[in-house]
Amino acid sequence: MTMRLAPSMTPDTQFFWDGLKNHTLLIQCCTQCEVVRHPPRPMCPRCNSVEWHTIESAGRGRVFSFVMPQHPAYPWFEYPYIVALIDLDEGIRLVSNLCGIAPEDASIGMPVEVFYEHFDNDLVLAQFRPVVQL
Ligand code: ZN
Repeated sequence: MTMRLAPSMTPDTQFFWDGLKNHTLLIQCCTQCEVVRHPPRPMCPRCNSVEWHTIESAGRGRVFSFVMPQHPAYPWFEYPYIVALIDLDEGIRLVSNLCGIAPEDASIGMPVEVFYEHFDNDLVLAQFRPVVQL
């Protein structure tokens, strides 16, 4: 696996990245009003509480939108690749990659599931692939 530029990690987001290393997709949840939020931040946007806990996502969702970036060309990506907004079943939206599918076969609303990709620099990312229809 190639190196990949690591996302910026802060004390507010560390739990999310640590969860991925354990193959767990964690979602921040307000302890006061139970609203879920992503990306992680210190205060609830609904009730302003700073008390929060995490819930574990089942890792299923749907493609909200996607693009195939072209420029600038980064050496750690194989082109074409898909950057997708994923709406998780738990009610948050996150930015990720849609893998295991040709761009021409990707579609808005398609069901996807998470998998965890390990990179050389000790980085683990949540990636998504189409749910196999049986
Ligand atoms: Zn709240």
